[in-house]
Amino acid sequence: MGTVRTRFAPSPTGFIHLGNIRSALYAWAYARATGGVFVLRIEDTDVERSTQEAVDVILESMRWLGFDPDEGPLFQMQRMARYRQVLEEMLEQGLAYRCYMSTAELDALRERQMQARQKPRYDGTWRPEAGKSLPPVPAGVAPVIRFKSPVGGSVAWDDKVKGRIEFSNDELDDLVIARPAADGVGPIGIPTYNFCVVVDDIDMAITHVIRGDDHVNNTPRQIHILRSLGHEPPIYAHLPTVLNERGEKMSKRHGAKPVTQYRDEGFLADGVVNYLARLGWSHGDDEIFSRAQFLQWFNLDHLGKSAGQFDEAKLRWVNAQHMKSTDDATLAPLVGEQLRRLGLQLPADASLEPMCALFKDRCATTLELAQWLSMYFGEVSPSGEDQRAYVTDAVRPALSSLAVTLSGVVWDAPAIQQGIKATLSGYGLKMPQLAPAVRVLVCGRAQTPSLDAVLALFARETVLARLRAY
Ligand code: GLU
Repeated sequence: MGTVRTRFAPSPTGFIHLGNIRSALYAWAYARATGGVFVLRIEDTDVERSTQEAVDVILESMRWLGFDPDEGPLFQMQRMARYRQVLEEMLEQGLAYRCYMSTAELDALRERQMQARQKPRYDGTWRPEAGKSLPPVPAGVAPVIRFKSPVGGSVAWDDKVKGRIEFSNDELDDLVIARPAADGVGPIGIPTYNFCVVVDDIDMAITHVIRGDDHVNNTPRQIHILRSLGHEPPIYAHLPTVLNERGEKMSKRHGAKPVTQYRDEGFLADGVVNYLARLGWSHGDDEIFSRAQFLQWFNLDHLGKSAGQFDEAKLRWVNAQHMKSTDDATLAPLVGEQLRRLGLQLPADASLEPMCALFKDRCATTLELAQWLSMYFGEVSPSGEDQRAYVTDAVRPALSSLAVTLSGVVWDAPAIQQGIKATLSGYGLKMPQLAPAVRVLVCGRAQTPSLDAVLALFARETVLARLRAY
């Protein structure tokens, strides 16, 4: 087979969430894993519900997660002339026809079928057949265009996720592929969803359609249109739904957050990619992997058949593993951004890398890391409870003395450690008495990583001032 070409084709009708973007992940990954081409297509033909804001969230989310398209974004609304051209050709070749049945007639037909306990379907009144005479064209009715769907037999495909799927052609009536323009003028109206998808998949030479299984019912219709236009269908992989924590289909209506919110909450792109990858695909028991490993392993043979359930605690855990393995130079600018979001100003010479190194192991997100580092860039406000518990009369003299000692040492962790030890022995105190008091005053909390290392990353003056403030 030639070059793999995949696409992600979101509709910008709501803010894209993790469930949606998982389809983008697999389509992108399959293209990358096979040296193929990944196309981004924005399906914006639902003009009423599509918004520029939603487009922006899609593009930003894709950029953040590193799903860079090789082609696109292409917008369907910019391809109308092309769709109309194909519609004309189909009309000319007898692959489609104009149907003048009015909405009232369609409703009446549906009513009769329901009463006869039949499945509602178009009855073919305007379908041209050899030897059949069509009704006279009514005046003043703008026609829809219907696809002349094959009669009898069936249509089937081997889905990469679901196995063989077959639909009887009798279940598929003649689909409307264009509606009259709102003003009713012009020979060709507005093409409909299933039709645009097919023209695009053909024009973009898509070889693998990887998408949500809410599209399974569209696939037989799309295959028929594709074949009528002289093309063989691509390979389909219909991904099971992503459920939210309550077991409902993940959706904005059910409280799903936009993808960009995870970025803002301090998740790492690689952590999210890792988590989403596992939410519908597996590589043995591997839970934590890098993007490069994932691309090396990914294929369509190990996509899961059952719905994945989103679990934020698991996402946090996966992200925490990535926090540990991400190098400090990569974390530093992300944490800097979070610190600024917390309203803190960083001096131009702020050196975040050693701080990331010291604290990242205990953080699930860059936001948590920034919350730790905020002690270096803003005031701290120890709780009254911590002050009463740790900054006691028994340690107060030692704290002043420590400030004096630390004003004269070389400012690094070993020397600070020496200074603390000298103070302990001078006052007959133990580390667990003095250290929490120092932490509460300087760091604003009673627990931190190794005290000497934490203190060494402050400016000396800050430490002295905080020790002396009580
Ligand atoms: N625009 C469709 C959606 O957002 C996807 C269409 C497709 O992948 O074929 O659900």
